[in-house]
Amino acid sequence: MAERLDVLIVGAGFSGMYMLVKCRELGLKSHVFEAGSGVGGTWYWNRYPGARVDIQSLDYCYGFDEQLEKEWRWSERYAPQPELLAYANHVADRYDLKKDISFNTRVTAADWDAGADGWNVTLDTGEVIAARFVVLATGCLSVPTDVTFPGIEDYKGTIYRTSRWPHDGVDFSGQRVGIIGTGSSAIQSIPIIAESAGHLTVFQRTPNFSMPAHNGPIPEEDFQEWLKDPRAFRARSRYTAGGFWNDPRDEAIAIHTPPQEIKAELERRWAWGGFRILNAFADQAIDPAANKIISDFVAAKIREQVKDPKVAELLTPKDHPFGTKRPCVDTGYYATYNRDNVSLVDLRADPLETFTATGIKTKHNSFDFDAVVLATGFDAMTGAIERIAIRGRTGETIQEHWAHGPETYLGLMVAGFPNMFLITGPGSPSVLTNMINSIEQHVDYVTEIIASLNGRQAGRIEATREAEQTWTDLVDQSAAMTLFPQANSWYMGANVPGKPRRFLAFTGGLHIYSDICNAVRDKGWEGFTIARGDQVLHDSHEFTSLPPPPDNMAPHLMEMAMGRVAKWMQDHGRV
Ligand code: NAP
Repeated sequence: MAERLDVLIVGAGFSGMYMLVKCRELGLKSHVFEAGSGVGGTWYWNRYPGARVDIQSLDYCYGFDEQLEKEWRWSERYAPQPELLAYANHVADRYDLKKDISFNTRVTAADWDAGADGWNVTLDTGEVIAARFVVLATGCLSVPTDVTFPGIEDYKGTIYRTSRWPHDGVDFSGQRVGIIGTGSSAIQSIPIIAESAGHLTVFQRTPNFSMPAHNGPIPEEDFQEWLKDPRAFRARSRYTAGGFWNDPRDEAIAIHTPPQEIKAELERRWAWGGFRILNAFADQAIDPAANKIISDFVAAKIREQVKDPKVAELLTPKDHPFGTKRPCVDTGYYATYNRDNVSLVDLRADPLETFTATGIKTKHNSFDFDAVVLATGFDAMTGAIERIAIRGRTGETIQEHWAHGPETYLGLMVAGFPNMFLITGPGSPSVLTNMINSIEQHVDYVTEIIASLNGRQAGRIEATREAEQTWTDLVDQSAAMTLFPQANSWYMGANVPGKPRRFLAFTGGLHIYSDICNAVRDKGWEGFTIARGDQVLHDSHEFTSLPPPPDNMAPHLMEMAMGRVAKWMQDHGRV
C-alpha cells in the first residue's frame, strides 16, 4: 500500500466496520487491519458454547441505516454468537466492506511523523503504512489475560480458552471437564458443557451475581413496539444511561420505599429478566443500604434455584455490592449445580496448587480431566491499545503516558497522540453501556471531528493535557460517587497483576456523555488544539462542558452527584 491513507482503522469488529462506512461517506481513503480471519470482533473470537449477547438484540444492532435495521430479523431476545457473527458478515457484505479490510494482519506499532502530520503504522508483515488518522477500534474485551498456572505445560489433556474457541466447535460428550472461572463467559458455557460432559467440575474463586435471561423468541409486544417506529426506539435507547431501554425509575429511592413494594418491583424485574433489575431504584448504585436490599433479593433467588444449601452459599457473592462487578445474564446457570454430573470447587477454601499430567491438584484434592476450559477473563479496555507500540508527538509511548492508569480526553483522544482516536476507549461510558449504541455515538463524533478538520484545511487535532487531566479527574470522581470502586473487578483493572487501579469507564451514562461531547463540539472543539504544520489554528485548553442535569434523572440524586462534581471542580481550581 504505497499511497498514504487518510484513515487507518485497527480492528474489524462492530466499531471498525462502522468507522469504515463513515469514512467512505466522507470520501476518505481508508483501510482496516484485522488480526482475525473474519469480521465481527468479540463475536468472531468468543465462540464458546452458550455465547450470546446480554443486551436485547432489538437494541444490540446497528441503527445507522433504517433499511438495514428493517431487513434483519433476530431469532431470539438475546441472539446467540453464530447469529451475531452472521449479522456482522451480513453488514460487511451489504456495504461491501471486506475489500477494504486486510485480515490475518496485526498492527504492531504506530509512530507519529511530525513532518507529515500523520502516523507511520507497522504491521506484523513488516510493512509500514502512512496514514493521517489512526482509529483504534480494538475492542474493550479483546485481549485475554496472560493468566497461567503452575505445571500447565505438563498437562496432557486439552486446554481451551473461552475467548479463543476452536472454529469447528468442541465435542465434550462423556468427557471429564474442568472449567476455571465464574464470570460471564463461564456462566454462559457451564450449563451447555454440563449437558454433554461426563462430569463437569467448576473451579470458582469469586462468585458473581447472575440474572436469568428468560431467553426465547422476541415477545410480540416488544417487536410491535419496535416496528411502530424503529427510529424513535433507537433514539430512546441512546438517550439513556446504559444505551438501552431498561425501564428506569429515576424517582424511586429504595431506602424510602416500603419493603412489600420493593419486593413487588424486584420480582417484576426478575420475571422480565436480564439487566432490568439494575434500574429498579435510583439509589442502588450509590447507596450501600439500598444496594444491600437488591443484593439480598438476588441472594435469595440463588438459594431458591440451588437445591444444596452449601453449594448455594458458595455461589452467593459476599465480597462486592450488586452491580459493581458486571452482573451476568444466564440460562439455567444456578440450576446446573443440581445436576449429578456437576460439582463446584471453592478455590478460596481449597486453592489450586498445580496442574498435573492428568488434571489439577488443589490443596486438598486432585482431579483428572480430559479437557480444561479457561474462562479467566480479559485485560480490559487498555490491553489491546497497550499491546501496540504507540509512540506519540513528544516521543512518549502510550504505556508511559498511562503508567498510572489510562488518561484520556472523553475516552476518545490522548494528549500527545494527535490524530489518534479511540472508539469506546477508557474514560468513555463504553463497557457500562450497550456497546453498539456507544460505538455509533463515538464513530459519528470522530467523523464529525475529521470533517471539521477538513473544513478548516487543518492537518491535525490533539487533546490538550489540561482537558485530558480535567476529564480524567471527572471520570475518577464520578466513579468515586458510586459503589463501583468497592469491587475488585476488571472495571478497576484489578484482574491483571500490576495493572494500575483506576475505574476504566465514565459512570455518568451515555446520555450525559453525549451531551458533554456535543457541548464540546458546539464550543468549537473545547479542549483541543487544531493545527496545520507549524500553524496553530485553534487552541483551547479548558474543559467546562458539564451539562445541566437532564430531566430524566432523579433530580435530587443528579443534583447531589453533579453538586459533588461541581464542588470538587471548584476545589481543584477547574472552574
Ligand atoms: P471475567 O468476568 O473477568 O471472569 C473471569 C473469571 O476467571 C473470574 O471468575 C475470575 O475469578 C476467574 N479467574 C481469573 N484468574 C483466575 C485464577 N488465576 N484462578 C482462578 N480463577 C481465576 O471474564 P469473562 O467471564 O470472560 O467476562 C468478561 C466480560 O466480558 C464480562 O464481564 C462481560 O462484560 C463480557 N462478556 C459478555 C458476555 C455477553 O454479553 N454475553 C459474555 C461473556 C463476557 P475472580 O473473580 O476471583 O478474579
